[in-house]
Amino acid sequence: MKYIDEFRNKRLVSEASRKIRTIKVSGPINIMEVCGTHTMSFFKFGLTKLLPERFRLISGPGCPVCVSGPDYIDKAIAYSKMKGVIIATFSDMLRVPGSSLTLERQRCEGADIRSVYSPLEAVKIAQDNPQDKVIFLGVGFETTAPVVGLTILEAKKMKLENLLFFSSLKLIPPAMGCLLKDRQVNIQGFLCPGHVSSIIGTIEYEFIPRHHRIGCCVCGFEPLDMMQGINNLLEQIVTGRPRVSNQYLRLVRRQGNKRAQRIIEAVFTKRDSTWRGMGRIADSGLKIRKRFSDFDAEVIMPLKIKEKRDLRYSQCRCPDVLKGILRPSDCPLFSRDCTPLSPYGPCMVSSEGACNVYYKYR
Ligand code: SF4
Repeated sequence: MKYIDEFRNKRLVSEASRKIRTIKVSGPINIMEVCGTHTMSFFKFGLTKLLPERFRLISGPGCPVCVSGPDYIDKAIAYSKMKGVIIATFSDMLRVPGSSLTLERQRCEGADIRSVYSPLEAVKIAQDNPQDKVIFLGVGFETTAPVVGLTILEAKKMKLENLLFFSSLKLIPPAMGCLLKDRQVNIQGFLCPGHVSSIIGTIEYEFIPRHHRIGCCVCGFEPLDMMQGINNLLEQIVTGRPRVSNQYLRLVRRQGNKRAQRIIEAVFTKRDSTWRGMGRIADSGLKIRKRFSDFDAEVIMPLKIKEKRDLRYSQCRCPDVLKGILRPSDCPLFSRDCTPLSPYGPCMVSSEGACNVYYKYR
Protein backbone atom coordinates (compact mmCIF):
# COMPACT_ATOMS: atom_id res chain seq x y z
CA MET A 1 0.00 0.00 0.00
CA LYS A 2 2.86 2.34 0.95
CA TYR A 3 4.47 1.86 -2.49
CA ILE A 4 1.17 2.44 -4.27
CA ASP A 5 0.78 5.71 -2.34
CA GLU A 6 4.36 6.75 -3.12
CA PHE A 7 3.89 5.96 -6.80
CA ARG A 8 0.62 7.87 -6.90
CA ASN A 9 2.17 10.87 -5.14
CA LYS A 10 5.16 10.94 -7.50
CA ARG A 11 2.80 10.94 -10.46
CA LEU A 12 0.75 13.76 -8.93
CA VAL A 13 3.90 15.81 -8.21
CA SER A 14 4.97 15.45 -11.87
CA GLU A 15 1.48 16.45 -12.99
CA ALA A 16 1.53 19.53 -10.71
CA SER A 17 4.99 20.45 -12.03
CA ARG A 18 3.79 20.12 -15.66
CA LYS A 19 0.79 22.28 -14.86
CA ILE A 20 2.98 24.95 -13.23
CA ARG A 21 5.20 25.04 -16.33
CA THR A 22 2.26 25.61 -18.63
CA ILE A 23 0.89 28.59 -16.70
CA LYS A 24 1.72 31.75 -18.64
CA VAL A 25 2.99 34.61 -16.51
CA SER A 26 4.62 37.83 -17.58
CA GLY A 27 7.90 38.51 -15.80
CA PRO A 28 9.46 36.85 -12.78
CA ILE A 29 7.24 35.66 -9.93
CA ASN A 30 8.41 35.80 -6.31
CA ILE A 31 6.69 33.51 -3.86
CA MET A 32 7.71 33.54 -0.23
CA GLU A 33 7.63 30.33 1.75
CA VAL A 34 7.13 31.91 5.14
CA CYS A 35 8.26 28.91 7.13
CA GLY A 36 11.70 27.34 7.45
CA THR A 37 10.22 23.83 7.28
CA HIS A 38 8.93 24.60 3.77
CA THR A 39 12.34 25.94 2.74
CA MET A 40 13.98 22.76 3.97
CA SER A 41 11.42 20.48 2.31
CA PHE A 42 11.70 22.25 -1.07
CA PHE A 43 15.43 21.68 -1.19
CA LYS A 44 15.44 18.27 0.45
CA PHE A 45 12.98 16.84 -2.08
CA GLY A 46 14.63 18.63 -5.01
CA LEU A 47 11.41 20.46 -5.88
CA THR A 48 13.20 23.67 -6.85
CA LYS A 49 14.48 21.81 -9.94
CA LEU A 50 10.92 21.14 -11.04
CA LEU A 51 10.02 24.83 -11.16
CA PRO A 52 10.49 27.13 -14.17
CA GLU A 53 13.35 29.67 -14.27
CA ARG A 54 11.15 32.75 -13.98
CA PHE A 55 9.77 31.44 -10.76
CA ARG A 56 11.63 32.46 -7.60
CA LEU A 57 11.10 30.97 -4.15
CA ILE A 58 12.08 33.33 -1.35
CA SER A 59 12.72 32.18 2.20
CA GLY A 60 10.85 34.12 4.85
CA PRO A 61 11.17 34.90 8.54
CA GLY A 62 9.53 31.66 9.73
CA CYS A 63 12.40 30.15 11.70
CA PRO A 64 11.95 31.10 15.38
CA VAL A 65 15.62 30.67 16.21
CA CYS A 66 16.68 32.93 13.32
CA VAL A 67 14.39 35.81 14.24
CA SER A 68 15.25 35.88 17.96
CA GLY A 69 17.02 39.21 18.36
CA PRO A 70 20.53 39.59 19.82
CA ASP A 71 19.04 41.46 22.80
CA TYR A 72 17.06 38.33 23.77
CA ILE A 73 20.18 36.13 23.57
CA ASP A 74 22.17 38.71 25.57
CA LYS A 75 19.55 38.59 28.33
CA ALA A 76 19.49 34.79 28.33
CA ILE A 77 23.29 34.86 28.68
CA ALA A 78 23.01 37.39 31.54
CA TYR A 79 20.55 35.06 33.33
CA SER A 80 22.89 32.10 32.81
CA LYS A 81 25.70 33.99 34.56
CA MET A 82 23.62 34.38 37.74
CA LYS A 83 24.38 32.12 40.66
CA GLY A 84 21.82 29.36 41.22
CA VAL A 85 20.23 29.69 37.77
CA ILE A 86 19.73 26.81 35.33
CA ILE A 87 18.75 27.66 31.76
CA ALA A 88 16.61 25.14 29.88
CA THR A 89 16.37 25.66 26.12
CA PHE A 90 15.84 24.01 22.75
CA SER A 91 19.32 23.04 21.53
CA ASP A 92 19.14 25.22 18.38
CA MET A 93 19.30 28.30 20.59
CA LEU A 94 22.74 27.41 21.96
CA ARG A 95 24.69 28.61 18.94
CA VAL A 96 22.64 31.68 18.04
CA PRO A 97 24.83 34.74 18.48
CA GLY A 98 23.84 37.59 20.75
CA SER A 99 25.72 40.88 20.44
CA SER A 100 29.01 39.18 21.13
CA LEU A 101 28.54 35.73 22.66
CA THR A 102 26.50 32.55 22.38
CA LEU A 103 24.89 30.41 25.09
CA GLU A 104 27.14 27.56 23.99
CA ARG A 105 30.23 29.62 24.75
CA GLN A 106 28.73 30.49 28.11
CA ARG A 107 28.12 26.81 28.81
CA CYS A 108 31.79 26.07 28.09
CA GLU A 109 32.65 28.69 30.70
CA GLY A 110 30.65 26.81 33.32
CA ALA A 111 27.07 28.09 33.11
CA ASP A 112 24.40 25.47 33.75
CA ILE A 113 22.57 25.45 30.40
CA ARG A 114 20.59 22.34 29.47
CA SER A 115 19.05 21.28 26.15
CA VAL A 116 15.46 20.08 26.27
CA TYR A 117 13.00 18.85 23.64
CA SER A 118 9.91 20.17 25.41
CA PRO A 119 9.12 22.81 28.06
CA LEU A 120 7.68 19.96 30.14
CA GLU A 121 11.27 18.74 30.66
CA ALA A 122 11.96 22.05 32.40
CA VAL A 123 9.32 21.08 35.00
CA LYS A 124 11.31 17.94 35.80
CA ILE A 125 14.57 19.92 36.05
CA ALA A 126 12.88 22.36 38.46
CA GLN A 127 11.56 19.50 40.61
CA ASP A 128 15.00 17.87 40.72
CA ASN A 129 16.75 21.11 41.64
CA PRO A 130 14.56 22.88 44.23
CA GLN A 131 17.47 25.04 45.44
CA ASP A 132 17.94 26.59 41.95
CA LYS A 133 15.84 28.81 39.68
CA VAL A 134 15.15 27.17 36.33
CA ILE A 135 14.50 29.54 33.41
CA PHE A 136 12.95 28.09 30.26
CA LEU A 137 13.63 30.09 27.10
CA GLY A 138 10.22 30.27 25.43
CA VAL A 139 11.13 30.65 21.77
CA GLY A 140 8.74 29.76 18.96
CA PHE A 141 5.62 30.66 17.03
CA GLU A 142 1.93 29.85 17.42
CA THR A 143 2.77 26.13 17.28
CA THR A 144 4.96 26.29 20.40
CA ALA A 145 2.85 28.79 22.37
CA PRO A 146 0.12 26.30 23.45
CA VAL A 147 2.71 23.87 24.85
CA VAL A 148 4.49 26.63 26.74
CA GLY A 149 1.11 27.89 27.98
CA LEU A 150 0.12 24.42 29.09
CA THR A 151 3.41 24.04 30.98
CA ILE A 152 2.79 27.33 32.80
CA LEU A 153 -0.71 26.16 33.77
CA GLU A 154 0.75 22.87 34.96
CA ALA A 155 3.50 24.61 36.96
CA LYS A 156 0.87 26.79 38.65
CA LYS A 157 -1.21 23.73 39.53
CA MET A 158 1.89 22.06 40.99
CA LYS A 159 2.76 25.30 42.88
CA LEU A 160 6.31 25.14 41.48
CA GLU A 161 8.16 28.13 42.86
CA ASN A 162 11.49 27.78 41.08
CA LEU A 163 10.38 27.58 37.44
CA LEU A 164 10.34 30.73 35.30
CA PHE A 165 9.68 31.37 31.61
CA PHE A 166 11.46 33.94 29.48
CA SER A 167 9.09 34.48 26.58
CA SER A 168 10.15 35.38 23.06
CA LEU A 169 7.08 33.76 21.50
CA LYS A 170 6.14 35.41 18.23
CA LEU A 171 3.16 35.60 15.89
CA ILE A 172 3.51 35.02 12.16
CA PRO A 173 0.69 37.10 10.53
CA PRO A 174 1.89 40.51 11.88
CA ALA A 175 5.37 39.75 10.50
CA MET A 176 3.86 38.99 7.07
CA GLY A 177 1.97 42.29 7.21
CA CYS A 178 5.19 44.10 8.13
CA LEU A 179 7.05 42.54 5.18
CA LEU A 180 4.40 43.79 2.77
CA LYS A 181 4.91 47.36 3.98
CA ASP A 182 8.65 47.16 3.24
CA ARG A 183 9.39 48.71 -0.18
CA GLN A 184 12.49 46.55 -0.66
CA VAL A 185 10.41 43.39 -0.46
CA ASN A 186 8.83 42.16 -3.69
CA ILE A 187 6.40 39.26 -3.14
CA GLN A 188 3.50 38.11 -5.31
CA GLY A 189 2.27 35.31 -3.05
CA PHE A 190 2.71 33.61 0.31
CA LEU A 191 2.98 29.89 0.94
CA CYS A 192 1.70 29.75 4.54
CA PRO A 193 2.91 27.23 7.11
CA GLY A 194 0.59 24.28 7.69
CA HIS A 195 1.49 23.71 11.35
CA VAL A 196 1.08 27.35 12.44
CA SER A 197 -2.17 27.53 10.43
CA SER A 198 -3.56 24.45 12.17
CA ILE A 199 -3.53 26.54 15.37
CA ILE A 200 -4.57 30.00 14.13
CA GLY A 201 -6.74 28.96 11.15
CA THR A 202 -6.80 30.50 7.67
CA ILE A 203 -8.88 33.40 8.97
CA GLU A 204 -5.75 35.11 10.36
CA TYR A 205 -4.34 35.65 6.84
CA GLU A 206 -7.48 37.17 5.35
CA PHE A 207 -6.23 40.74 5.83
CA ILE A 208 -3.45 40.02 3.30
CA PRO A 209 -5.54 39.64 0.11
CA ARG A 210 -8.06 42.16 1.46
CA HIS A 211 -5.61 44.99 2.20
CA HIS A 212 -2.52 44.10 0.13
CA ARG A 213 -4.02 42.22 -2.85
CA ILE A 214 -1.54 39.36 -2.32
CA GLY A 215 -2.66 35.72 -2.39
CA CYS A 216 -1.95 33.12 0.30
CA CYS A 217 -2.07 29.34 0.21
CA VAL A 218 -1.83 27.25 3.38
CA CYS A 219 -0.13 23.97 2.61
CA GLY A 220 1.49 20.96 4.21
CA PHE A 221 5.07 19.77 3.98
CA GLU A 222 4.90 16.79 1.62
CA PRO A 223 6.21 17.37 -1.94
CA LEU A 224 2.70 17.07 -3.33
CA ASP A 225 1.33 19.59 -0.79
CA MET A 226 3.90 22.17 -1.77
CA MET A 227 3.59 21.70 -5.53
CA GLN A 228 -0.18 21.98 -5.27
CA GLY A 229 0.26 25.09 -3.11
CA ILE A 230 2.44 26.77 -5.74
CA ASN A 231 0.06 25.79 -8.49
CA ASN A 232 -2.78 27.32 -6.52
CA LEU A 233 -0.86 30.57 -5.93
CA LEU A 234 0.06 30.86 -9.60
CA GLU A 235 -3.58 30.50 -10.57
CA GLN A 236 -4.45 33.30 -8.14
CA ILE A 237 -1.73 35.50 -9.65
CA VAL A 238 -2.71 34.80 -13.25
CA THR A 239 -6.42 35.37 -12.68
CA GLY A 240 -5.72 38.49 -10.57
CA ARG A 241 -7.99 37.16 -7.81
CA PRO A 242 -5.95 36.90 -4.61
CA ARG A 243 -7.52 35.02 -1.71
CA VAL A 244 -6.59 32.66 1.14
CA SER A 245 -6.81 29.09 -0.08
CA ASN A 246 -6.31 26.00 2.00
CA GLN A 247 -4.45 23.05 0.48
CA TYR A 248 -3.95 21.45 3.93
CA LEU A 249 -7.60 20.58 4.47
CA ARG A 250 -6.69 17.40 6.28
CA LEU A 251 -5.48 19.46 9.23
CA VAL A 252 -6.36 23.14 8.90
CA ARG A 253 -9.77 24.76 9.47
CA ARG A 254 -10.75 28.37 8.85
CA GLN A 255 -11.16 29.02 12.59
CA GLY A 256 -8.09 26.98 13.65
CA ASN A 257 -7.75 24.93 16.81
CA LYS A 258 -10.03 26.52 19.42
CA ARG A 259 -8.63 24.51 22.30
CA ALA A 260 -5.05 25.59 21.61
CA GLN A 261 -6.22 29.19 21.09
CA ARG A 262 -7.97 29.13 24.49
CA ILE A 263 -4.72 28.07 26.19
CA ILE A 264 -2.78 30.86 24.45
CA GLU A 265 -5.49 33.40 25.35
CA ALA A 266 -5.58 32.27 29.00
CA VAL A 267 -1.83 32.53 29.58
CA PHE A 268 -0.53 35.20 27.21
CA THR A 269 -1.35 38.65 25.99
CA LYS A 270 -0.08 40.32 22.80
CA ARG A 271 2.79 42.80 22.86
CA ASP A 272 5.23 44.41 20.43
CA SER A 273 8.20 42.23 19.67
CA THR A 274 11.62 42.71 18.09
CA TRP A 275 12.45 40.46 15.14
CA ARG A 276 16.00 40.07 13.91
CA GLY A 277 16.26 41.97 10.65
CA MET A 278 12.76 43.41 10.84
CA GLY A 279 12.88 45.49 13.99
CA ARG A 280 9.98 46.09 16.31
CA ILE A 281 6.61 44.83 15.02
CA ALA A 282 3.40 45.86 16.78
CA ASP A 283 1.43 43.06 18.47
CA SER A 284 3.70 40.37 17.08
CA GLY A 285 4.79 38.80 20.37
CA LEU A 286 3.27 37.04 23.38
CA LYS A 287 3.82 38.17 26.94
CA ILE A 288 2.84 36.17 30.02
CA ARG A 289 -0.32 37.58 31.61
CA LYS A 290 -0.19 39.31 35.00
CA ARG A 291 -2.01 36.51 36.77
CA PHE A 292 0.91 34.20 35.90
CA SER A 293 3.61 36.76 36.71
CA ASP A 294 5.09 34.44 39.37
CA PHE A 295 6.35 32.43 36.40
CA ASP A 296 7.54 35.37 34.31
CA ALA A 297 11.33 35.77 34.38
CA GLU A 298 11.00 39.36 33.14
CA VAL A 299 8.90 40.26 36.20
CA ILE A 300 10.67 38.19 38.87
CA MET A 301 14.21 38.84 37.65
CA PRO A 302 14.09 42.03 35.50
CA LEU A 303 17.23 42.80 33.53
CA LYS A 304 18.65 45.92 31.93
CA ILE A 305 21.64 45.23 29.75
CA LYS A 306 23.67 47.31 27.36
CA GLU A 307 23.93 45.96 23.84
CA LYS A 308 27.50 45.43 22.66
CA ARG A 309 28.34 45.18 19.00
CA ASP A 310 30.78 42.52 17.88
CA LEU A 311 32.29 43.20 14.44
CA ARG A 312 32.39 39.50 13.64
CA TYR A 313 28.60 39.24 13.81
CA SER A 314 27.88 42.64 12.28
CA GLN A 315 29.03 41.35 8.87
CA CYS A 316 26.25 38.76 8.86
CA ARG A 317 23.49 39.51 6.30
CA CYS A 318 20.76 37.51 8.10
CA PRO A 319 18.45 40.55 8.32
CA ASP A 320 18.33 40.72 4.50
CA VAL A 321 18.02 36.94 4.15
CA LEU A 322 15.07 36.89 6.57
CA LYS A 323 13.25 39.53 4.52
CA GLY A 324 13.92 37.67 1.28
CA ILE A 325 15.99 40.57 -0.12
CA LEU A 326 19.18 38.51 -0.33
CA ARG A 327 19.75 34.88 -1.25
CA PRO A 328 21.95 33.12 1.32
CA SER A 329 24.48 32.21 -1.37
CA ASP A 330 24.87 35.94 -2.20
CA CYS A 331 26.14 36.70 1.32
CA PRO A 332 29.94 37.21 1.02
CA LEU A 333 30.53 35.01 4.08
CA PHE A 334 28.38 32.10 2.88
CA SER A 335 30.22 28.76 2.89
CA ARG A 336 33.61 30.56 2.95
CA ASP A 337 33.64 31.85 6.54
CA CYS A 338 30.15 30.85 7.62
CA THR A 339 29.23 27.15 7.70
CA PRO A 340 26.94 25.04 9.93
CA LEU A 341 30.01 24.01 11.94
CA SER A 342 31.15 27.58 12.39
CA PRO A 343 28.09 29.82 11.93
CA TYR A 344 28.29 33.60 11.88
CA GLY A 345 24.57 34.15 12.02
CA PRO A 346 21.38 32.41 13.20
CA CYS A 347 20.26 31.50 9.65
CA MET A 348 23.21 29.11 9.47
CA VAL A 349 22.54 27.62 12.93
CA SER A 350 19.07 26.16 12.76
CA SER A 351 18.32 23.24 10.44
CA GLU A 352 15.38 25.36 9.23
CA GLY A 353 17.47 28.50 8.71
CA ALA A 354 17.68 29.52 5.03
CA CYS A 355 21.51 29.65 4.98
CA ASN A 356 21.79 26.22 6.60
CA VAL A 357 19.35 24.75 4.06
CA TYR A 358 21.19 26.33 1.10
CA TYR A 359 24.49 25.05 2.44
CA LYS A 360 23.21 21.50 2.84
CA TYR A 361 21.14 21.10 -0.30
CA ARG A 362 22.12 23.68 -2.91
FE1 SF4 B 1 24.63 35.36 8.14
FE2 SF4 B 1 26.16 33.26 7.47
FE3 SF4 B 1 23.80 33.55 6.35
FE4 SF4 B 1 25.78 35.20 5.71
S1 SF4 B 1 25.71 33.01 5.29
S2 SF4 B 1 23.67 35.75 6.15
S3 SF4 B 1 26.85 35.35 7.66
S4 SF4 B 1 24.18 33.19 8.52
